[in-house]
Amino acid sequence: MIDLTAVRADTPGAAERVFLDSAGSSLPPRPVLDEVIGHLRREAEIGGYVAARERADDLEAGYGVFAELLGAHPDEVAFTDSATRSWLAAFDAVPLGKGDRVLVTEVEYAGNAIPILHRAQEVGAEVLTIPSDAVGQVDVEALKDLLDERVKLVSLVHAPTNGGLVNPVREVASAAHEAGALVLLDACQSMGQLPVRADDLDVDIISATGRKWLRGPRGTGVLVVRRTAADRLRPRLVDLHSAEWVGPDEVELRSDARVYELWETSVADRLGLIAAARYALDLGIDQITAEVRARAEHLRTGLRALPGVEVRDIGAELSGIVTFTVEGHDAVAVRDHLARHDVVATSSHLSSTRIDMTRRRIEGLVRMSPHYFVSPDQLDRAVEAVAALT
Ligand SMILES: *Cc1c(COP(=O)(O)O)cnc(C)c1O
Repeated sequence: MIDLTAVRADTPGAAERVFLDSAGSSLPPRPVLDEVIGHLRREAEIGGYVAARERADDLEAGYGVFAELLGAHPDEVAFTDSATRSWLAAFDAVPLGKGDRVLVTEVEYAGNAIPILHRAQEVGAEVLTIPSDAVGQVDVEALKDLLDERVKLVSLVHAPTNGGLVNPVREVASAAHEAGALVLLDACQSMGQLPVRADDLDVDIISATGRKWLRGPRGTGVLVVRRTAADRLRPRLVDLHSAEWVGPDEVELRSDARVYELWETSVADRLGLIAAARYALDLGIDQITAEVRARAEHLRTGLRALPGVEVRDIGAELSGIVTFTVEGHDAVAVRDHLARHDVVATSSHLSSTRIDMTRRRIEGLVRMSPHYFVSPDQLDRAVEAVAALT
């Protein structure tokens, strides 16, 4: 059990409002805030280079912390400034040519779909969508029918931005690997609320963000590239950190995942991100998963009882993302109404997950993403605020 009083004491913002947007940008706990602000102060005192040197051991230890969190080796971890940066660095390194295929799921995120489609158009590759099954998750049997030697990459979203779905990662990875394809897992909406381990899930690459369920600072991201996949990738976006200028005409790339990093970074934010991962590991990922799941179910139960409200989450296993529509009110209007009641929710639109939303004929959804620091009576207040509309 997570000590609700203790985690709420670490999260002052959670007392003042019903905060239900950990899928957007969560509230960092006090140790994260202290780390970031403390380091910025230190930089102002002695300069950024010396301040970074003082924390060199802690920065290095961060690779081990994320290796533990994500079931990888420290050499397989890289830090970036967003999940998209992580994802793009890895995707750019996947060799793709004419006639090659990339498979995506119906819940593919716009930030991934756009670079995939753009690059496919440039090189003459094909992009195919794996259908979903009757419950709404990626259909593994349909995937097997699509897999052959032309498929170089399966882009898999673990938990989409627009609903409670959790995709069956291990089954997808195992089928993809049998056909020789790489699996790139977008764990943006799972890291920090669900177990995400490269070793258990057997994926080749993981990209994830700091600011969502992990409760890290904005402008942070992480990337895992497993050694077993490294020699099939061709990193291109390299600098003087990821490679060395060893002769006038010669460069040598790093052999670990840091080949995907750039030299310049916000050290304060990196330290905050590491603190956020430690905080989650100290609470226990399984405990977090159980608490978030209970919060989300509490909300869904309350919302389902309201006339005119339809909970839209699909899938066999559900995450902490709760989505719904309210008859006669568009999603933005509901979000704004909730804000007036000190309930922080958000809305998710067709443009973010076009394939899924088009298929389900939904323009916009209200999204509530309760973390473990939200109290059950706050969830009831959120449901009451929705009820005031109906
Ligand atoms: C938020 C999100 C991203 C992008 O993360 P950034 O850190 O903003 O780059 C990618 N995929 C999914 C599913 C997301 O929800």
